[in-house]
Amino acid sequence: MRCDMTDAAILIEDLEKTYAGGKRALDGVSLEVPRGQIFGLLGPNGAGKSTLINILAGLVNKTGGRATIWGFDIDVHPRNAKASIGIVPQEIIFDPFFTPFETLEIQAGLYGVPKERRRSMELLRAMHLEDKARAYSRTLSGGMKRRLLVAKAMVHSPPILVLDEPTAGVDIELRQQLWDYVRSLHAEGVTIVLTTHYLEEAEELCDRIAIINHGRLIANEATRTLVGMAQEKAVEVTVDRDLAAIPAADCFDKIEMVNERTLAITYRKDRVNAGEVLAALQKDGLGIVDVSTREADLEDVFLNLTRAANAAA
Ligand code: ADP
Ligand code: MG
Repeated sequence: MRCDMTDAAILIEDLEKTYAGGKRALDGVSLEVPRGQIFGLLGPNGAGKSTLINILAGLVNKTGGRATIWGFDIDVHPRNAKASIGIVPQEIIFDPFFTPFETLEIQAGLYGVPKERRRSMELLRAMHLEDKARAYSRTLSGGMKRRLLVAKAMVHSPPILVLDEPTAGVDIELRQQLWDYVRSLHAEGVTIVLTTHYLEEAEELCDRIAIINHGRLIANEATRTLVGMAQEKAVEVTVDRDLAAIPAADCFDKIEMVNERTLAITYRKDRVNAGEVLAALQKDGLGIVDVSTREADLEDVFLNLTRAANAAA
């Protein structure tokens, strides 16, 4: 039945989507999500993340390219492809007249899960919704609805769970619960794909991160590699006397006065090191009292890469 022998959980080749109005949301994206990973799909608003995920979900028709889920081509074996993936959409949509328990049972029915293998209560419990099992969906808070969507995505026990901006508008406690659940699924071997705006979150959770911008893939790296790609380094230096003027040196990318005795300096760590930066200040007769540095995070990488991609376009 498998049409394609691959170790990828998801394989996307040259995926294209042009919407009816002419908007090109995906412009030839190729991407492989390895099995067993937590994979982050990052990108600014309008980048094409939901379009990509909705194509995998069978909610949006692609206009070009190929996608394979757990070895099943979505065009050739759509049912098998669908059975291999659970998707939590960005938009919350529910029938308000069903209870959470009924919602899960109906979903299990749609996926042909036999009664004895259903685990509606277990899923509700995992999502801290057991006391809401018999409440109408319309009475649930936004956060509860989102958790119910996660449970709904898992009724058929797929090997892949995809979450599209799962923490947008979700409070911190709930976010933590959600990540605990995601981690426990991951520990059981489920491949996780998530899109998020929260770069720190992707950095903390994901083994690998892909970045898309304007429908194009601009990065796809192990998280550690991606973080290492941030070349801009920022330091704050406190000196031993009031500054008469802002010092100048070739090794500074940018230098600003924070107050009379503190300078904020940005430099490229691929060109110079901290010692050279401090030496340049000392050469101006300044004594160094204190230095604080900030580790580059994904925010830096993301900004640098999108800036570079925009400049190249
Ligand atoms: P993201 O999820 O990264 O924010 P989307 O995939 O939702 O991005 O959108 C990508 C682009 O496609 C945006 O410019 C958006 O306005 C456009 N778009 C999304 N859905 C539709 C649609 N149904 N019809 C027309 N354009 C759409
Ligand atoms: Mg989106």
